[in-house]
Amino acid sequence: MRLVFLGAPGVGKGTQADLIASRFHHPKISTGDILREAVRNKTPLGLEAKACMDRGTLVSDDIVVGIVREKLAEPGCTNGFLLDGFPRTVAQAEALAEMLKTRGQPLDRVINISVSREEVVRRLTGRRSCPKCQAVFHVELAPPQRGGICDRCGGELIQRSDDHKDTAESRLSVYEEQTAPLIAYYREAHVLSELNGLDPVEAVHHRLVSLLAASGLT
Ligand code: AMP
Repeated sequence: MRLVFLGAPGVGKGTQADLIASRFHHPKISTGDILREAVRNKTPLGLEAKACMDRGTLVSDDIVVGIVREKLAEPGCTNGFLLDGFPRTVAQAEALAEMLKTRGQPLDRVINISVSREEVVRRLTGRRSCPKCQAVFHVELAPPQRGGICDRCGGELIQRSDDHKDTAESRLSVYEEQTAPLIAYYREAHVLSELNGLDPVEAVHHRLVSLLAASGLT
């Protein structure tokens, strides 16, 4: 199963990719998580990426393509992988196609998850994340059992700085300009599947599993 999860920030790509990853035992590669870890560890990569991430703009194609190239070369990715938050530009999609062509392993499906802009802003600004284990909660939609504490690992939840309203709005504009063109790109390549992300997480997950089954992937 070689999948890309496409969609605006806040549509639930990461959550759905996590559920598919644990159900079918495939690694999830989230460029956002990798970059945030690099920022926390103050690595050269993190120092370079931080300013873009704080502003809600995209990190350079060269950097993220390099990250994904390294990850895909790991043995765990031989039998499948889920890409979350990559590609985000046509140049990244072309670089990915080239990498996969070399491996003789084309993408199986690109899942485009969509919800309205209003709902996305509500989800982003209410989102709380665990910096230790990457679990994600929402103040109204999926509150943690003990306020501010991660249910999974006991870590202290934070609001990502780029989930504050102004940066969230900029990220959505960046998505419209640079990432949304990938919908047509993958539709033309006949690998695009559309998924409405408005329902509760479990309902969207079940529809996604059916969609993958209908595509012969389960
Ligand atoms: P995410 O967690 O996927 O919303 O990503 C958070 C931030 O990381 C984005 O706003 C970008 O600054 C950066 N980022 C993540 N993935 C990419 C990518 N594929 N291309 C460029 N920048 C990225």
